[in-house]
Amino acid sequence: MKRHNFYAGPSILPQYTLDKTIEGIKDFAGTGLSVLEISHRSKEFVACVSDTIALIKSLLDVPAGYQVIFLGGGASLQFCMVPMNLMNSKSAYLVTGEWAGKAYKEAKFFGDAIEVATSKDRNFSYIPKNYSISSDVDYFHITTNNTIYGTELKNDPDVKVPLVADMSSDIFSRPVDVSKYSMIYAGAQKNLAPAGVTMIIVKEEILGKVSRPIPTMLDYRTHIKGESMFNTPPVFAIFAAQQTLKWLKEMGGVKIMQKKNIEKARILYDEIDRNRLFVPTVKDPEDRSLMNICFVMADEYKDLEKEFSEFAKSRGMLGIEGHRSVGGFRASTYNALPKESVEALVAVMKEFESGKR
Ligand SMILES: *Cc1c(COP(=O)(O)O)cnc(C)c1O
Repeated sequence: MKRHNFYAGPSILPQYTLDKTIEGIKDFAGTGLSVLEISHRSKEFVACVSDTIALIKSLLDVPAGYQVIFLGGGASLQFCMVPMNLMNSKSAYLVTGEWAGKAYKEAKFFGDAIEVATSKDRNFSYIPKNYSISSDVDYFHITTNNTIYGTELKNDPDVKVPLVADMSSDIFSRPVDVSKYSMIYAGAQKNLAPAGVTMIIVKEEILGKVSRPIPTMLDYRTHIKGESMFNTPPVFAIFAAQQTLKWLKEMGGVKIMQKKNIEKARILYDEIDRNRLFVPTVKDPEDRSLMNICFVMADEYKDLEKEFSEFAKSRGMLGIEGHRSVGGFRASTYNALPKESVEALVAVMKEFESGKR
């Protein structure tokens, strides 16, 4: 049976990434040694890091004045590193979901973090609009894709203060105007690589402005200066990320990827809207995530949830259970997920419906 991988993270990677990673585990860059057992300071691995950075810069059109670095600790470590490095006294947060809320919570350890708006009142099922950001904040933090509840900010907002974004679950899914951001960070395990590395794009001029002392390892400037090699970086995850980025470039880049992602999401949302057994959790099409598509059983069919879950699994649909805090279903349709998988899921939803006359 063909298996379709809808897991939210860690999640599906391109077959290219898996194949090239297996090659690299056996023989890395013609060294005759595995990428798992070679010095991060070897010239071959140093070249891997600089090529990965060059790929990121070219795929996202990163302007001059920005640095790309790789850190460990996941996107979650950035929740505290961002305020520690960027917030003198005040910051603003848009709380659109669980991860956004966790980021906001950490900022409060460092000063006056303001929640400018939240969609918590309706279980994070929409993106708040019409909020205002006080002009004296050191930065405004957004989470572009709400991985758990399935909303997404699909445009780069125009704001008058430095903008910081957690793009962990939609990085490389669309073109981004990097010049609008002071910092972008993303854990790799959704759209890029296996878990273990976090990618950071930071505008250099925003650093060095806070008065607090910053421990060496938690200071972005340490890692810029060390070219992501101040200490041993997550070598394997960076190598795998390089393969995904090569694949992405071969595929035609983020603009083509966006087109494919829009098409995949349309196929699935259309079926959720049409099928009488299911309802989408996010009503406004503008706010609907193209990466994590969430739906539940319609009220009159609530008791069929477990049955559908088992049915889908028996047809090879893996990882479609909703996050433990939401229930229902979530199909993650990251870059590497082929359209055929979405079509297969739609066919299963139709088949299940026709069995319920
Ligand atoms: C998965 C995720 C995180 C957490 O990432 P870790 O690498 O596990 O710390 C943070 N933010 C968003 C938007 C995510 O999707």
